[in-house]
Amino acid sequence: MVGKMSDYLIIGNGVAGKKAAETIRGLDKSGSITVVSSENHDFYYRPQLPSFVAGKVEKERLFDNQGRFYEENNIDLLLGTKAVNVLPFKNRVVFDNGSSLEYGKLLLSPGGRLKQRVYPGGEGTSGVVGMKTLDDAAFIKGKIDRLKHALVIGESFLATYLVEALNEGGVSVTYILRNENLFPNLLDVDASAILERRLQLKGVNVLKDEDIREICVSDGSVNGVKTINDNFIECQLVGIADGLKPDIEFVRNAEIATGEGIFVDKQMRTNVPDIFAAGDAAMRISSGNNEMPQINIRWLKAWKQGIVAGKNMVGNNASYDDLECFASTRIYDVNLVSLGISNPCGGKYKIMTGKHAQIGKDIYKKIVLDNGKIVGALLVGDVAEASILMDAIAKEKMITDIDEGFVNQMFGAGIQLKPNSCVVCPVCKLDILSDSLLKEGSLIGCPACGIDINLKENMVQL
Ligand SMILES: Cc1cc2nc3c(=O)[nH]c(=O)nc-3n(C[C@H](O)[C@H](O)[C@H](O)COP(=O)(O)OP(=O)(O)OC[C@H]3O[C@@H](n4cnc5c(N)ncnc54)[C@H](O)[C@@H]3O)c2cc1C
Repeated sequence: MVGKMSDYLIIGNGVAGKKAAETIRGLDKSGSITVVSSENHDFYYRPQLPSFVAGKVEKERLFDNQGRFYEENNIDLLLGTKAVNVLPFKNRVVFDNGSSLEYGKLLLSPGGRLKQRVYPGGEGTSGVVGMKTLDDAAFIKGKIDRLKHALVIGESFLATYLVEALNEGGVSVTYILRNENLFPNLLDVDASAILERRLQLKGVNVLKDEDIREICVSDGSVNGVKTINDNFIECQLVGIADGLKPDIEFVRNAEIATGEGIFVDKQMRTNVPDIFAAGDAAMRISSGNNEMPQINIRWLKAWKQGIVAGKNMVGNNASYDDLECFASTRIYDVNLVSLGISNPCGGKYKIMTGKHAQIGKDIYKKIVLDNGKIVGALLVGDVAEASILMDAIAKEKMITDIDEGFVNQMFGAGIQLKPNSCVVCPVCKLDILSDSLLKEGSLIGCPACGIDINLKENMVQL
């Protein structure tokens, strides 16, 4: 490949890289495009991995229904190839197989790498796992039928996804939190309690303020853990997930400005001409408030940033204006949206909160104010107000700018206006609301991430 040139080179075939490739091809019909991925699979819906492990989604359904898009649109896809160095002033990227490729424009979208604390005893055994890639998920799925008990540790979303996947797959699960609540940078104790209750109702044994002292192995297989509180917990699998960290070691020795991630402006440009970054690996140059939590679970953001980067790589001037710091997900059947500073630790913030008692459904809502300005919000169980609050935070609105009726509806118990029916997008987990009655067999498109959903088995919630 030395000496070869691609007009557009994209490192990473996750959602950011794929949307960029599609966008570029839509705008430039003849430029050469190369997408490189260290994984050996075509593009797949990463947030569906827990459902795959749990046996709720077949492997084929993880893949895009436009599988041949690259082929049909003359886009070169290099699978199982890892970028190991970027040489910005030669416009060249070097790969682990010794080859290199020159580029006209480069997009860095390598996503994140799983962070896992290392515990004594666990080194080198296949019974210690994490779930970031399809290969990870397939490995866990291959073991699931032989597991009686699994233990998962970590306060990140990825840990709870693993808990849910194993539990729904029929394994008895102990979930260890090192602190006293879930996702402490996003959730307060009340919000966490709703999710903990849901986990417990599903049969998960949740232990708080605990940690692993040692992973116990016999004949090469895990058979339990000893904890710091001197308990022995029997298990054949230990899942460790402490969040995602931008996977950018191969960029570090270049002239590209990086911190935790690759620094970009709103146009997804790095400090180096012709080089862009998007998705979990990209990080906005701080616009001020360093109390904003770092969140690396953001499918929709990667999707949108890929489109913006793609447009700008062909010479446009699009910008990514959404709120930088948000998370939207679903744990079991509980939706959760965290926006901006949702769990401040300093005393200068004022908290508006309300609790809605509804039979069989826990709901928790909160707005965080800094001198009357809306700087954060948290919605658990019912996330109907998320887009309005996201817009208010992004535009730095005051609480007095917000319609009183909206606030009353948000915090007023029992007056939730429900649409006729809704369905949760299996990929980005958005609640898609509909005024008409949705039923099995209906085909709908997710307005956020764009996938087509063929409604099946109990997807519709009335
Ligand atoms: C199990 C799981 C469940 C999730 N659920 C949700 C959810 O419910 N909601 C939500 O919003 N988000 C969720 N996420 C997060 C979401 O998947 C990510 O935010 C999103 O995939 C980021 O997209 P990306 O394109 O930036 O990176 P990625 O999807 O991580 O893709 C990056 C690609 O780049 C490749 N790559 C990395 N380094 C190199 C290199 N050096 N050379 C070549 N290729 C390289 C990788 O192999 C990978 O294919 C989940 C993530 C996981 C792991």
